[in-house]
Amino acid sequence: MRLNLRDIIHAPGSSLPFDFQMDLTQLELYGQRPAAEPVRVTGTVRNMAGALQLEGTASSRLHLTCDRCGKPFLREMSVPLDTLLATELEDEENDEIVLLEGTELDLDDLAQTEFILGMDTKNLCSEDCKGLCPRCGADLNLGPCGCKPEADPRLAALAQLLDDSAE
Ligand SMILES: [Zn+2]
Ligand SMILES: [Zn+2]
Repeated sequence: MRLNLRDIIHAPGSSLPFDFQMDLTQLELYGQRPAAEPVRVTGTVRNMAGALQLEGTASSRLHLTCDRCGKPFLREMSVPLDTLLATELEDEENDEIVLLEGTELDLDDLAQTEFILGMDTKNLCSEDCKGLCPRCGADLNLGPCGCKPEADPRLAALAQLLDDSAE
């Protein structure tokens, strides 16, 4: 959504709350579409002695797939929004300030960027997920699969030699 700050832009001490839902269902990350549910964006823009400060959160429940065991799982995520807004940039180098278009702020763009930056690059169903057995594909979280532990190939070759000489 676009937020028009016309009423507070020249009124120190005033504020403008916002609360809307954003649709990021088409957003693809790491081959998945994790934002399957609406993202709720809430907060306030305050005029603090002439400076515009935006504070809020973007939150949703992500639909993820575990990187280790492939199991789908849900994770609540809430990303803080905290940025300064300005109608013009006095210092071109300052990338912490978001520029308004006239008196309007592209809040979708801002919230979407922060939301994506806030996502983990690793998705594990639990911190100690044991993953799948590389040999039989069994889910090791459910218990051992019965495969022998993977032997070091050099040790395996040595064992083969010893086997042959024993015959
Ligand atoms: Zn897992
Ligand atoms: Zn196995």
